[in-house]
Amino acid sequence: VPEHDTMLAMFAATRARYPDRTATTYFDGRLTYRELDELSDGLAAHLAEGGLAPGDRLAIYLQNVPQFVIAALAGWKAGAIVVPLNPMYRSHELTGILGDARPTAVVSSEHGWHEVLGELARDAGVRIAITTSELDLQTRGDERVLGRIRRRPAGDAADLLAVARKGGRPPEVEVRADDIALLAYTSGTSGVPKGATNTHGNITFNCAGFRARATRDAPGFFALAPLFHMTGMVCQLGAAIALGGRLDLAYRFEPGVVLDALAEHRPDYLIGPSTAYMALMNHPDVTRDHFASLDHVFSGGAPLPSAVVERFRERFGHYIHNGYGLTETTATATSVPVHLEAPVHEETGTLSVGLPTFNTVLRIVDDDGADLPVGEVGEIVVEGPMVVPAYWNKPAETSAGIRDGRLHTGDVGFMDERGWFYVVDRKKDMINASGFKVWPREVEDVLYGHPAVREVAVVGVADEYRGETVKAYVSLRAGQRATAEELVEHCRRQLAAYKYPRIVEILDELPKTATGKILRRELREGKTG
Ligand code: ATP
Repeated sequence: VPEHDTMLAMFAATRARYPDRTATTYFDGRLTYRELDELSDGLAAHLAEGGLAPGDRLAIYLQNVPQFVIAALAGWKAGAIVVPLNPMYRSHELTGILGDARPTAVVSSEHGWHEVLGELARDAGVRIAITTSELDLQTRGDERVLGRIRRRPAGDAADLLAVARKGGRPPEVEVRADDIALLAYTSGTSGVPKGATNTHGNITFNCAGFRARATRDAPGFFALAPLFHMTGMVCQLGAAIALGGRLDLAYRFEPGVVLDALAEHRPDYLIGPSTAYMALMNHPDVTRDHFASLDHVFSGGAPLPSAVVERFRERFGHYIHNGYGLTETTATATSVPVHLEAPVHEETGTLSVGLPTFNTVLRIVDDDGADLPVGEVGEIVVEGPMVVPAYWNKPAETSAGIRDGRLHTGDVGFMDERGWFYVVDRKKDMINASGFKVWPREVEDVLYGHPAVREVAVVGVADEYRGETVKAYVSLRAGQRATAEELVEHCRRQLAAYKYPRIVEILDELPKTATGKILRRELREGKTG
């Protein structure tokens, strides 16, 4: 019997109540909670027989496919720590993570195994290899995303569904709330990936938050965010399990495919990064009808400009609820309650990220760690039941970043007099222009207010006179025109002289992480491809 605050107990409770409800869909394939339970039992039995012991790591290298869910549950049933690997990562990124996590077992897509992971896993001493095809659990895949995938069974790896269907009982293991459930590597928008050790208790706490915000029984969640990312794992998969809901998966974020899937599955909740909403909004085929089934729309994990929220509401009739968090806070640290709207800060135009979640304290501190008064900008420190206890194998980073259960986020922000929080920017992204502080996001928000602008990233570039000067990279909406001069002028009218970008460069696309975050670091380093 698993301890209550574990993913296994949460899953068992839902499985007991709703065995025949749909747990997940994938194009026209679907699995019920009972099927998910049986398949993960079979896989857990196989993994345990192969030598996966409690506390060992099971790495998962898959897109948003139902096998991801089967594999994660199987890992937890065997008492293992699940290590989600970004499926866009290639040898350079994966070698570092495998070396740090030292997984005993891996579950991979067939093509991922052939192309990259197989060789690396053998070198890293992985003992159990399982592969699966993205074509296995649906009959009518979408040509746009699955069209080029071919079956390529791997000789030295077992087939996931074949072993799962053999059945078997998972091993008798004790899983506790403070055992690590996930070893989640931050996506590294700022540098080297670090493994956050999210415990079962960390995750179930945030899932309970979603349960408190639910507006209906057994809702449908559409997964805009990837499952390997904390938003996907907790706010989509975890929340769906906690509510006995259905999780609609569609391989990876592809705006046209998502729109078709929304029309077909008619979900109740949409969750994803702000950039996903911008991409959907700018798709030529989008209509109000695509979003007609939705109760609520949630955004988190990336800055959400208030201009985007207003544009989305005008066109589709839905208010986007902002939320803020990090991998280290197991997704959500603040959210906007579903019956409220977040205030917009008058002076800066910044949309609030919401109120701290239940039992969570956010502090704003100065460089010495002393609390700052209301309205002042400083580093955001988070303390609460979803803050990870440590980084994996990184005692120095742990003692620098997580002191007495308080996570120093590296983000700067402030609290208003009513207790709402605002994220100004990342501490390290501050631009120092002639000694003046410029926070790129404020400039980005102003650019998002221009009708032709699709996406923006503002960075500091070296400047002979000012030390650093403000530069904006912009992509334009389809069918819209604007010159760099016009965009500079748009900013000059609204911002102080030291803040407006002296240089605007228009690109077709801005570089992004797999989770859809714009990579300012690459732009700063001059990579625009
Ligand atoms: P790194 O590797 O630097 O930690 P990451 O992007 O991989 O970066 P995540 O944990 O995925 O790390 O993202 C957390 C960051 O995303 C936060 O520190 C914050 O800067 C940003 N963020 C998350 N939600 C919001 C929001 N609602 N508004 C503004 N920024 C946000």
